[in-house]
Amino acid sequence: KRKLDPEDEAPRKIHEIGHGQAVAAHYNELQEVGLEKRSQSRIFYLRNFNNWTKSVLIGEFIDRVRRKKSDITVLDLGCGKGGDLLKWKKGRIKKLVCTDIADISVQQCKQRYEDMKARCRYNEHIFDAEFIQADSTKDLLSSKYNVPHTCFDICSCQFVYHYSFETYEQADMMLKNACGNLSPGGYFIGTTPNSFELVKRLEASETNSFGNDVYSVKFEKKGEYPLFGCKYDFHLEEVVDVPEFLVYFPLLEQMAKKHGMKLVYKMTFREFYEEKIKNEEHKMLLRRMQALEPYSTFGDSKLVSDKPDDYEHAKEF
Ligand code: SAM
Repeated sequence: KRKLDPEDEAPRKIHEIGHGQAVAAHYNELQEVGLEKRSQSRIFYLRNFNNWTKSVLIGEFIDRVRRKKSDITVLDLGCGKGGDLLKWKKGRIKKLVCTDIADISVQQCKQRYEDMKARCRYNEHIFDAEFIQADSTKDLLSSKYNVPHTCFDICSCQFVYHYSFETYEQADMMLKNACGNLSPGGYFIGTTPNSFELVKRLEASETNSFGNDVYSVKFEKKGEYPLFGCKYDFHLEEVVDVPEFLVYFPLLEQMAKKHGMKLVYKMTFREFYEEKIKNEEHKMLLRRMQALEPYSTFGDSKLVSDKPDDYEHAKEF
């Protein structure tokens, strides 16, 4: 936050290095923490719930592609430290290209993949992988990876796309990278903050910010929401403390049409949860992943934390 706060002693730095570099520096600095420490975290259930959502989404689209072909190639755009590697392994894909703006994250992602590969039992399948550091809002990725053009069956962009909505050019370049090399019938899937919800909460607040003691969102001003560059500072305990941009979804949908895309579906996390939890397998996965059932009533769930605060934070977010 210190580096990014416009009221700080060095506000010019951001303009000099650009938001992308500030975001990369932030993610590079994030430390990987062990399982034990993670389970004590106040956002343990929130993380697990997000992870469950990604697992179900990724699994669903792998299944859709697999109905048509067996060898699946995926682009993980904004892969971070490789939080989704296991999901790709479970999906038995053939090839994965991982890319992120943060070079240390890319290295950690690669190391995680190598470790995973080394742990594979004899005859156990793991995909081939490539790792690329690049700013997907500025660099054309297709010149950097070693796969034929129009070969991705899925581009997955999890909690990343909102960084691109700084300018039209950046948002469009990220879309080009996401959709430009999809094979016909391929899918662009992702998760991104809900701008309608953010603005609703801001408008309900008496100040330029809202949140609780786990997360906060601070806008520069209320009432004006430009289509691009509508920046807010997002703070989430232990994870993020970076500038992000509102993504106006109807505009994203229009822009994606230019890249030959048609909307399959868009859901809020709540809608997604309510639909997918009807499936027994997804319900069991939620249990195994120790995710809360965030939208069920407190007493109904055996999974809820014995610390009610955790539940409240997860629900709030
Ligand atoms: N997708 C991963 C996951 O779900 O675990 C990481 C999500 S993390 C919230 C956001 C990621 O987006 C960070 O790793 C960050 O470095 C990456 N990112 C932000 N701006 C980017 C850009 N312009 N190009 C590529 N990656 C970017």
